[in-house]
Amino acid sequence: MAHSKTFAGKRAVVIGASMGGLLAARVLANHFEQVTLLERDSFPAAGENRKGVPQGRHAHAVLAQGLTIMEKHFPGLIDRLVSLGADYGDVSELARWYHEGGCHQPTRSGINAINVSRPLLEAEVRARVLALPNVQAVEGCDVLGLLSTPDNGRVTGVRIIRRKAGSAEESLMADLVVDASGRGSRTPAWLEGLGYERPLEEEVKVGLTYTSCQYRRKPEHIPGVNAVIMASSPENPRVGVLLSMEGNRWMVTVAGYLGVQATPDHAGMLEYARGLDDPAIYQVIKDAEPLSEPATHKIPSNLRRRYDRLARFPQGYLVMGDALASFNPVYGQGMSVAALESAALDDCLAQGDDRLAERFFKQAGKIIDIPWSTAVGNDLRFPEVAGPRNGMVRFINWYIGKLHHAAQYDPVVSVAFLKVVNLVEPPPSVMHPRIMWRVLRGNLGSRTGKQLVPSEGAVAADMV
Ligand SMILES: Cc1cc2nc3c(=O)[nH]c(=O)nc-3n(C[C@H](O)[C@H](O)[C@H](O)COP(=O)(O)OP(=O)(O)OC[C@H]3O[C@@H](n4cnc5c(N)ncnc54)[C@H](O)[C@@H]3O)c2cc1C
Repeated sequence: MAHSKTFAGKRAVVIGASMGGLLAARVLANHFEQVTLLERDSFPAAGENRKGVPQGRHAHAVLAQGLTIMEKHFPGLIDRLVSLGADYGDVSELARWYHEGGCHQPTRSGINAINVSRPLLEAEVRARVLALPNVQAVEGCDVLGLLSTPDNGRVTGVRIIRRKAGSAEESLMADLVVDASGRGSRTPAWLEGLGYERPLEEEVKVGLTYTSCQYRRKPEHIPGVNAVIMASSPENPRVGVLLSMEGNRWMVTVAGYLGVQATPDHAGMLEYARGLDDPAIYQVIKDAEPLSEPATHKIPSNLRRRYDRLARFPQGYLVMGDALASFNPVYGQGMSVAALESAALDDCLAQGDDRLAERFFKQAGKIIDIPWSTAVGNDLRFPEVAGPRNGMVRFINWYIGKLHHAAQYDPVVSVAFLKVVNLVEPPPSVMHPRIMWRVLRGNLGSRTGKQLVPSEGAVAADMV
């Protein structure tokens, strides 16, 4: 493996070996002689959940852009996941997208994603990272704090304790420490302890509750369809997601904003699914065999820490993944944002150590701006969600409502939207005059196709 001259003989340490930490380790291995992942959990058997990633029990979409980067980092990953039972295919043709009470017209969009359980994806990525000759992981290891130079200008390592009886605190020296410890990251407090300011936190509260359960997938369940996404609206704050996964299973998540939630048992999930905008998910689960007990998870807010705005930041230290920004997960962005950040980290490291944190946080900030604006912008449609609603946010939300209406009849409009959702195109692309014209036409009644009868699972190619 070729290493950058700048980092020859040097060691990087990553706090947290979830998707953010693993993707960071993958690119750090391109530059550093040695990369050490520190994870407080023990790694479970492939495909099994673990405590530090409770979100593994819930629907976990990998967006097209994130998948493309993961495949670049780990050539052959998609084929491997498919060989283990994951579903890889077109995000429009094989899925049903419900917005504003109607179903987008499916078509062959050319945008591909993969349906796989979060634990299996993480296990496969972890296996590939740990197969790199210069990467090692220490499981059952809690990071307690940072080590630094006497003037606190540079982080020089971490203080750790192993989760074994009789363990004592140890010091682990590093030339670069990357915090990928997730939303609960203690970096703000650690920085303060070193005499730096805490970053400004931008937060938009959504009070989301997820309830999820796995079911056995049968051939008669919406044939030809591997995903159903029912977005919420101020009229109906219920979200429903059904995703296929390996092992002939469905992962079904129902969620609600601001206290709206399912009773966390099978009857409660069924009742909640019955109240979604369309019966497609209800019809699958009403007679399906549950393969797990319903699990719940609360997500209080979208949360972004503005390290890019700090006047002072120690050398030898970075923050990425959910520790930097964690989003309302209904948009499925977190892992893909971590993947984009890992690509940015690779670029920044290729340019050496000089002003590394400043350069990385600037690039990461640009990456986060896009999913942040789409997630928060959409959440602000709910009158109860507090946040700044300027004229532009109101106009975009009005326009997107019209877009969803047109997309029920016009697959070109739907694909424009799905490219943005999958982080393949930037949000302004749905405002391109070509798309605006079609949105207008779709709303004026000059409709181009017949409306899909969603629960029939019609074949996309027939509709275009
Ligand atoms: C309910 C839910 C659903 C989601 N759905 C999606 C989705 O559909 N698509 C998507 O892309 N993303 C989704 N996400 C987000 C996604 O899971 C994260 O973005 C992704 O895991 C990357 O996060 P991360 O690795 O930065 O942090 P995390 O996944 O939170 O991992 C942090 C890791 O650090 C370890 N750790 C923490 N503190 C320490 C310490 N002091 N010492 C040692 N180890 C430590 C933890 O054990 C854990 O392994 C969802 C999140 C939630 C909560």
